[in-house]
Amino acid sequence: MKKGVRNLLLFILLLPILLGSATSARYKTLADQSFYVMEASDVATIYRPKGSTYKADFVEAEYGLAEQYLEQFAHYNNLPMERCKNSDLQVFVVGMDIVNDKERYPYTTNNVSERWAIYDPYPQDNNLSVILLTEHTSTNVDTVLLVHELGHYWFDEYCWSDDWKASTESFAMSFQDFYTLDRFNRRF
Ligand SMILES: [Zn+2]
Repeated sequence: MKKGVRNLLLFILLLPILLGSATSARYKTLADQSFYVMEASDVATIYRPKGSTYKADFVEAEYGLAEQYLEQFAHYNNLPMERCKNSDLQVFVVGMDIVNDKERYPYTTNNVSERWAIYDPYPQDNNLSVILLTEHTSTNVDTVLLVHELGHYWFDEYCWSDDWKASTESFAMSFQDFYTLDRFNRRF
């Protein structure tokens, strides 16, 4: 069989899996919800609910750009660019009701009245990290939410807690400011 034909067949076979809805088998916290699954190359697996138009391409592109900022940020702050972990990243696009569900996510940050995104290191599974995002009409807001939560994710992936000498929240905020001041010329 010609390679092209075989690839086409493979794609046709895979299509129902890629477009089909699935529950999050590994991430038990959202096991009661159903999602459509998309791959953002080797960056992350994205789960979006029915009706959402969230794009895998967006996550892939923003991840790549944020990673370039991370390299500069790490350089300025003398943080070693050596990954100590390599967890799978799953990104869930969810409603505001999910991120603000105190029973599902009891460890709510103090003095935040409304959450828009969550980074869940998911200690139940050493090889899995999860980012929950809500979807907004402004692409910039979607970018900032993703960049902030990626800050938390990378803080863990590079084991920077000793080097940074402050909390993961302080790191994510500083990284977010570094990024948004350069890219959008303002803080969020
Ligand atoms: Zn945060």
